[in-house]
Amino acid sequence: MQNENHYIHRNNWLRAAVLGANDGIISTTSLVIGVAAAGSSRQVILLAALASLVAGAGSMAAGEYVSVCSQTDLEKADLEREKNELEATPKEELEELADIYVKRGLDKQLARQVATQLMTHNALDAHAKDELGINEMTTPRPLQAAMASAASFLIGGLLPLLFTIIISIEKMVVSQYLSAIVSLAILGGIAAKIGGSNIKKSAMRICFWGTVAMLSSALVGSIFGMNS
Ligand SMILES: [Zn+2]
Repeated sequence: MQNENHYIHRNNWLRAAVLGANDGIISTTSLVIGVAAAGSSRQVILLAALASLVAGAGSMAAGEYVSVCSQTDLEKADLEREKNELEATPKEELEELADIYVKRGLDKQLARQVATQLMTHNALDAHAKDELGINEMTTPRPLQAAMASAASFLIGGLLPLLFTIIISIEKMVVSQYLSAIVSLAILGGIAAKIGGSNIKKSAMRICFWGTVAMLSSALVGSIFGMNS
């Protein structure tokens, strides 16, 4: 059981890293393609890539930090309310828990017995798990989660940034697009393998939506490029 939990945790962590890298690739490449399609100089393209990395990593970190914190606050508030209810109305709480087990398939008498024993053992824990769905009181690490999100975004944006320096301006849009598609396909495959889903389907889906994002950006870039 312990091993299984660890395995799930690791999978979630890897999944988040892959998603962050996907974000880094798509948004940085889209921005670079948009700016390059407008006919900008290398300096401007490079600046756009840098701005994308800084802004993207910052926004990922802030979003993740807020998300982890509010999730923790929510769980804390739920547990606090449950604790008060257990003190104020223990009988109703026992019935409530027993009802949950009846809905899951136990007969009434057994459900009551299970609920009674679990509540004798640890009432709050039993209600947290079976009523609120809070399985484990893990120590939340919002700062760590924020750093990991930002880092995965930066890793994803590194290749498009490098390309703005080494690729010739004429080939910038096509090279950026091809490199992004190959990276996305590989990451999509990895994500599918981790999640146990269809690798080809998952890679094709991320490539399709990545193409939509980059194409829109190229379109906007070329429209504004024509006007200037
Ligand atoms: Zn309850």
